[in-house]
Amino acid sequence: MEIKKRDIRALTKEQLRNFFVEQGDKAFRGNQVYEWLWQKSAHDFDAMTNISKETRKMLEDNFVINHIRVDQMQRSSDGTIKNAVRLHDGLVVESVLIPTETRTTACVSSQVGCSLDCRFCATARLKRMRNLNPDEIYDQVVAIDNESRLYFDRPLSNIVFMGMGEPLMNYNNVLKAIDKITSPEGLGMSPKRIVVSTSGVPKIIKKMADEDVKFGLAVSLHSAIDEVRTSIMPFNSTFPLKDLRESLEYWYSKTKNRITYEYVVWKGINDTQEAADALVKFCKFAPSKVNIIEYNPIDDGEFQQAPNNAIEMYKNTLERNGITVTIRRSRGKDIDAACGQLANKS
Ligand code: SAH
Repeated sequence: MEIKKRDIRALTKEQLRNFFVEQGDKAFRGNQVYEWLWQKSAHDFDAMTNISKETRKMLEDNFVINHIRVDQMQRSSDGTIKNAVRLHDGLVVESVLIPTETRTTACVSSQVGCSLDCRFCATARLKRMRNLNPDEIYDQVVAIDNESRLYFDRPLSNIVFMGMGEPLMNYNNVLKAIDKITSPEGLGMSPKRIVVSTSGVPKIIKKMADEDVKFGLAVSLHSAIDEVRTSIMPFNSTFPLKDLRESLEYWYSKTKNRITYEYVVWKGINDTQEAADALVKFCKFAPSKVNIIEYNPIDDGEFQQAPNNAIEMYKNTLERNGITVTIRRSRGKDIDAACGQLANKS
């Protein structure tokens, strides 16, 4: 019977060092292999040229290196790139490279599908199949960094966890991936350039605050009125606004980091002055920024982007109350790469 080999990247550096010691080799060999696996993103043992042939064979006999494969790459007319990423078990997720004048941002997935049920999001229609492993998140970032260098002549500058899935429902793996992304032994990126976006899982937000994480937090709010929010994001009935707000107050008291809110204004849903006032009331307790994002239609018109005067009304209301507002245009719409459009269509 064939023994199922372990994914070598599930081992910590310490475990890898111990493995070599158990094999009668030097612990240092573990460091060398670790560097190949993470910093150099080796996809097979034979690439590890400073490791002897016998050792590579021994590794081959004991482990596999699971890695992602970019199955298909689509380019939008605005420069945005969408990768269809095949995982070792055949499942597929998507990640997006978003170029601007000064930045390249990677939008990465944290789960295959999503267990939340936001009614305006295409990913919500895919069943959540499983969580991504830390290496699968890391590899999406590496793939986009390579594409950024190749097509835009510069390294990746920012990462947002706004692809498929709810990152706080795969928190441990997301955290491990960020550790690798920010470690000098991985990509060495600053955590200040990373934003984790969540629909709001209060318990985990508090945990993040306790763990003193250094990356940014964005909350997909869309409504500050429970009844409305539950109607468009049904899981709000499990995690109501009161609990979310309490966890954010805790987050702010610990981190002193500004909170970003993602917000879409829809016709007939949240386009009233009352809704804008509720938003102000919800986020006024701490320095906040509201990103008003354009709605990317995914269906037969049940949800419709509110007209510009409603957006203006929000902007004025928020600014009058000292809240920063940005109005974000969608990128990559023509290839279904914009917010909420990731659904493995192609
Ligand atoms: N689950 C996480 C991250 C993925 S969604 C979260 O909820 O934050 C990334 C962002 O896109 C969220 O703010 C989400 O509310 C928004 N979004 C989802 N569907 C959208 C759509 N059709 N148009 C515009 N934004 C959408």
